[in-house]
Amino acid sequence: MNKGKVYLIGAGPGDPELLTLKGKRCLGEADVIVGDYLADKRILKFAKPDAEYIYVGKKVGCHTMKQHEISELLAEKGREGKIVARLKGGDPFVFGRGGEEIEVLRRAGVAFEEIPGVTSAIAALAYAGIPVTHRGVAASFTVITGHEDPTKDKSSIHWDKLACGSDTLIFLMSVGHTELIASQLMKYGRSPDTPAAFVRWGTRPYQETYTTTLENAAKDVVEKGIEPPAVFVVGNVVKLREEMRWFDNRPLFGKRIIITRSRTQASRLANALEERSACCIEIPTISIEAPSDDYAGMDDGIEHLDEYNWLIFTSQNGVNYFFNRLFEKGKDLRSVGHLKLAAIGPATAKELKKYGLNNDCVPKQYKAEDLVEEMRPLVKAGDKILIPRAKVARSVLPEGLESMGCDVNVVEAYTTHPDKGGKEKLLEILENKKVDIVTFTSSSTVYNFMDQLDGRTELLKGVQLACIGPITADSCRKYHLEPDVVSDVYTIDGLVDAIEKGVH
Ligand code: SAH
Repeated sequence: MNKGKVYLIGAGPGDPELLTLKGKRCLGEADVIVGDYLADKRILKFAKPDAEYIYVGKKVGCHTMKQHEISELLAEKGREGKIVARLKGGDPFVFGRGGEEIEVLRRAGVAFEEIPGVTSAIAALAYAGIPVTHRGVAASFTVITGHEDPTKDKSSIHWDKLACGSDTLIFLMSVGHTELIASQLMKYGRSPDTPAAFVRWGTRPYQETYTTTLENAAKDVVEKGIEPPAVFVVGNVVKLREEMRWFDNRPLFGKRIIITRSRTQASRLANALEERSACCIEIPTISIEAPSDDYAGMDDGIEHLDEYNWLIFTSQNGVNYFFNRLFEKGKDLRSVGHLKLAAIGPATAKELKKYGLNNDCVPKQYKAEDLVEEMRPLVKAGDKILIPRAKVARSVLPEGLESMGCDVNVVEAYTTHPDKGGKEKLLEILENKKVDIVTFTSSSTVYNFMDQLDGRTELLKGVQLACIGPITADSCRKYHLEPDVVSDVYTIDGLVDAIEKGVH
């Protein structure tokens, strides 16, 4: 039996977290993903890494693929036995032509499911602080296509009934027709001073909201250069925005922030910033790879673990590379059972916790100097200490411990390499002044970032620099750049808090 199936998935209006749980699951099962212009690419992280991605995006004026060709493509992939995720912006059945695709699939005998999505008609307004109904203000709302030419003879929109028949009127695909829409509504009795608004790219960090009145809406489109995609809303609910705004008045809203961490580590910082409405651009400056000595040092440490008293980690990567290697060698957690464990900070301690291991020493501040002090009462001369960590790292920790008479063995757990893959993009966005903040989470991100600028530090004029702590900040100063934000809690959350408080 053919197992092919097409899921028509409502991808939501943009904020990736507005994808439904069912949509996420089906996307994760798909062999083929057929994506739209309005379906936000960030949700592709839920797809299988080897899934085929086909972009069939449609944008006013430049159709990549005709509707019937898209429907045929879905049917063909389904017939081949593939699981297909057809991602559509918002909800597939709200002006999404989901029904047309289903008709073709049904005729082709291909199984399908429709997974509703959060429509931009409601969500874009919600993110602008405009509820579609509100007690005492609006008891009804209507969603209307603005794509239809309202003057055409056989308009299927009953303007005479619509104008005053629903409290909140929400038009999609309407920007180019605002004048005609507004004049029809006023002609049939809607007051010219009715509040109205455009919400463009709703729910995304670059959302734009323009409030106006029915009378002035068309003029504003021209004067303010409002372009699709936008939702046009008419009704008294628009006034509620003043008190109900929440998304676009946060300090980080719309701030374009570069993340310089390695690709594997970028998402935690990016997610935390995006949760606060920032717009993140990932330009990894380092990549994390296996140790350059082909695990020789680490294998030796692992082989002789029974001789050690302490195992100290200075990064999450160190923890993961160490335990992966331990398990690869056929050992398990019993090999570290006799050891005391220390982590340089809470993120490293949390990583240990994932292996079910408690930590015997986390310093109050998260620097090597503090860890040395914290360890002082806990170790005695002659203690043997293993530190699996990055190849290039400061010597404060081993030297501090050695000065207490400990026998310290630093082994290479991983190496960091400069990643220059994003250099062109970086220079382009800096040249075009499309960056507000650059974040640095370690000295090596600073060095490798600066390296990519080829000495053109003037490109950073007007760009704020945010560092995770004083050591990273000092690394910036080596380039005669004074950081604007230096976190005094040396964690990702601490950095995000400091950026939120410190940006201007
Ligand atoms: N199925 C989609 C609508 C498709 S029609 C949904 O349910 O949201 C395309 C129109 O939707 C655009 O012209 C615009 O009016 C609106 N739209 C889609 N996403 C939007 C967004 N993030 N912000 C504002 N308008 C959006």
